[in-house]
Amino acid sequence: MPRPLNSFEEANTEFLERIRVDYGYLQPTENGLSNSIIDATQEFRDFLQPAIHEYDEQPWDGKTNGRRLPASIILGGNTVDLPKANLYRARTRGDRRIWFPGIPRYVGGGETLLTLWLNDRFWLLNASRLEFDASPALSFVLQNHVTLTRGDGSLGRPDSFWGGAETDRTALRKVRAEQAHLRQHLLQGRAHGRCSICAAELPARLLVAGHIKPRSRCSENERLDYLSAAMLVCNLGCDALFEWGYIVVDGAGIVRPARAPETLAVKASVDALLGRTCLAFNAHTSVNFATHASLNL
Ligand SMILES: [Zn+2]
Repeated sequence: MPRPLNSFEEANTEFLERIRVDYGYLQPTENGLSNSIIDATQEFRDFLQPAIHEYDEQPWDGKTNGRRLPASIILGGNTVDLPKANLYRARTRGDRRIWFPGIPRYVGGGETLLTLWLNDRFWLLNASRLEFDASPALSFVLQNHVTLTRGDGSLGRPDSFWGGAETDRTALRKVRAEQAHLRQHLLQGRAHGRCSICAAELPARLLVAGHIKPRSRCSENERLDYLSAAMLVCNLGCDALFEWGYIVVDGAGIVRPARAPETLAVKASVDALLGRTCLAFNAHTSVNFATHASLNL
């Protein structure tokens, strides 16, 4: 049985989770390393399926059945290409296994080996030794291979936030510029401001310029129109609840429920805001609040 992660290893997995990079987890044994065997545990197979490899679709007829996939190991300051990994089922019982030739040089028995899959290649990391967030080699690999994806909310915003034809990189750059412009006007140089939804008085760093009408439905000009298209909302929940449509603002400027909360925690956050008067509701913004509401009710 694999042992639980220690705090050093946990800091490493948390780093990957924070930047939303999926990883597989292996814990080779001393014995396995000297016999060139690493068990592909169920957890590791879940990481592989379906995009990378399905052991169950691999013919297992007692003959050689390996599938070879490229692999590199990430060290502190550089990466080293290894011979291709071998994913196979053992001849006798069909056990699912993986082997990375050359890996015993970089990982000891009982240490934790994490695998990333980027650009059709395994990237291996010794999570027991390498401090991920201090590794220039890892940050180089991530910068070159990780494409931020939108749509499933992995950038924290619903589809309606992003413009259709823009690439993720272009969109992010634009959003950053728009945010700077809108916040500047909404805050007017103040170091503090009030959230338009919950009315909390907060330091500027906890406030963002929220689009009232979904950003993707705004023209370039509308996106910069701080009088009618944007409001100051807090990062402590109001921005996300409004953006995802859990709350809307009705024709009288009152916060109302919309999208059904999936958990009690979301429901509690929504309930705390219902019935409040939205501070950004006025003659300029009401049309955009109505558009937002009609899309979410
Ligand atoms: Zn708020």
